[in-house]
Amino acid sequence: MPKMKAVAKTKPASGAEIIEINTPTPGPDEVLAKVLATSICGTDLHIFEWNEWAQSRIKQLPLIMGHELCGEIVDVGKNVKNLKKGDIISAETHIACGHCYLCHTGSAHICIHGRIFGVDINGVFADYAVVPANNAWVLDKKIPKDYASVMEPLGNAVHTVLAGEITGNNVLVTGCGPIGLMSIAVSRICGATQIFATEVNDFRLQLAKKAGADLVLNPKKEKIVPRILDNTDGLGVDVVLEMSGNPTAIREAFQVLRPGGRYSILGIPDKPMEIDLGNDIVFKYATVQGINGRLMFSTWHKTTRFLSSGRLNLEPIITHRFSLDEYEKGMELMKSGDCGKILLYP
Ligand code: NAD
Ligand code: ZN
Repeated sequence: MPKMKAVAKTKPASGAEIIEINTPTPGPDEVLAKVLATSICGTDLHIFEWNEWAQSRIKQLPLIMGHELCGEIVDVGKNVKNLKKGDIISAETHIACGHCYLCHTGSAHICIHGRIFGVDINGVFADYAVVPANNAWVLDKKIPKDYASVMEPLGNAVHTVLAGEITGNNVLVTGCGPIGLMSIAVSRICGATQIFATEVNDFRLQLAKKAGADLVLNPKKEKIVPRILDNTDGLGVDVVLEMSGNPTAIREAFQVLRPGGRYSILGIPDKPMEIDLGNDIVFKYATVQGINGRLMFSTWHKTTRFLSSGRLNLEPIITHRFSLDEYEKGMELMKSGDCGKILLYP
């Protein structure tokens, strides 16, 4: 069995290390992919830093980190008919059971028994990765290869933007990390009218402009509520796309949501938080929705069309490309926030 290198969490403490292990063999319903590119998600940083969430969520070490994948299929399990060697794939990272109530009723993305790559099972920060055939997504040949790696977070953005009306709507995106930036770009091509973006990191605010935001605001430097109300005739925005997970940003966004507006939340606060349910949701007649993952697989089809049509430009959002060996540099940069999406190449 040939050996391969992988970035793994080996100890319940901050950091990670490069290990050498046997290249895995795919099961009958799986494929083996040579990893061509991967990218760093906030979840990977949480696991790397071993924060409270990671400590309570990760059940088994050692764990190969990472879940965002661009891979080339090099081996195919005996039951797999729809994939072949040489296919370039991305991966849906929520592994659904296929049998529970939610899987049966079109909501496999919130499967009761769902498992996640690089969290519950070995991930893709490695030379090779095993992927269940049902989770492999063959990349359209018109899409640049390494974009396969960012299709998963891009799918989060597409899912959120398309979870309600967007065309002709004024939109506020709170938080301009990679997924907030992608949400700006997707809202733009979907015909949002004014796009406001808030972010506390100036580097990311500049990226938000490049991604297509009309007005970028730093809540550490100015009061965002009057600025947004001034620019919407006092009405407020039709749609809030919450991409920060920050309690202050979440509360302020309610203040600029127009009555009857849509508030879609992807961002995850670190801990429970208070909101003014009566004023902000009930009397405002707001539609508030949580967004988890991507619809399997309608979001993937739409994400593919956005990319293959050439209408969606991710270049301003992908800011750094490193070798996988330099994962620590990538983690540091993620922590500083002075980056968009970071790609890593084994
Ligand atoms: P990220 O952490 O890179 O981005 C969050 C951004 O919010 C950062 O740039 C941060 O500076 C900014 N921010 C912090 N305080 C702010 C404030 N007061 N006002 C405005 N911006 C502020 O995360 P990401 O990878 O882009 O993901 C976005 C969010 O979505 C995160 O909370 C992440 O945990 C969550 N997430 C959810 C799902 C899901 O399925 N629901 C999937 C992936 C990520
Ligand atoms: Zn299920």
